[in-house]
Amino acid sequence: MTESDPLTPAAPASDALDALQAFVERHPRLFVLTGAGISTDSGIPGYRDENGAWKRSPPITLQEFTGSEAWRRRYWARSMLGWPAVGFAQPNGAHHALARLESAGYVSALVTQNVDGLHQRAGSHGVIELHGSIGHVHCLACGAQYTRASIQPLLEANNPEVAGAFAAPAADGDAHLDFDGNLPFAVPACAACGGMLKPSVVFFGENVPRERVAAATAALDAADAVLVVGSSLMVYSGYRFCAWAQQRGKPVAAVNLGRTRADPLLALKVEASCGATLEALAARLPPRLSEHDGPRPDAAADTAADTAANGGEPPRTATNTDIER
Ligand SMILES: [Zn+2]
Repeated sequence: MTESDPLTPAAPASDALDALQAFVERHPRLFVLTGAGISTDSGIPGYRDENGAWKRSPPITLQEFTGSEAWRRRYWARSMLGWPAVGFAQPNGAHHALARLESAGYVSALVTQNVDGLHQRAGSHGVIELHGSIGHVHCLACGAQYTRASIQPLLEANNPEVAGAFAAPAADGDAHLDFDGNLPFAVPACAACGGMLKPSVVFFGENVPRERVAAATAALDAADAVLVVGSSLMVYSGYRFCAWAQQRGKPVAAVNLGRTRADPLLALKVEASCGATLEALAARLPPRLSEHDGPRPDAAADTAADTAANGGEPPRTATNTDIER
């Protein structure tokens, strides 16, 4: 495998961009599903390489975290060093482009597998965070909620000998720290009840909450098509929306560098950088009228122009009979 090279931003070929633009124009209510690949340009590492294999060791599981004090020490020691990379990360051009596409009327739902909160920071609304938020922590005993930022000073104050260490950041606020969980480390506890605190993310071995899946499924039903951005879809919780879209006759397109689990069912694939592709796409697409808005004063003129440009044919609109393969 090769890490993607930051010196080669992998701009999309113009014919790929043409195809993507045409896809969105035919299916303007997009269910956008994003993954780690959209946040790597914000300095947040992903879990997997371009072939979908683990880059290093697999992430902690729920069973490990709740089952062993040593695992919790290891988790929090690594989190203390790795969280700042995600806690202070800024959205990149891809996040901003999706926010612009949403305000232009092309994103009916934004579902992310990421826990970094960067879509919200870029201005997207109603984001469904399938795997939760690394920005929050909750008590497994009493349910009290805390911001992750409020936990960081406690971690650092109580563990000065580890706080000074350097470790490269890893996915989801983790760090590459070879920490022996049998060494002393003060894990944070609930200020209200002393109970076990857990980051409000869906760990491996844990299910996505049912109501979150239901919200995303309803959003899929209301959408015309799926656009996958920056995900290998190796995790079933994301992949299933592509499978369900196919069952419902809704086409799936993807912008991703490298293989995805959904490759066999994709109607369109753009193998290019998320940022370069979405910025170019957003620049090409004019604001769209929603069905609930009245006609713009110039809508009739637009239609006439489209009709003329199409050699007298009325402009194509989204239908369920489009053949995408
Ligand atoms: Zn508590």
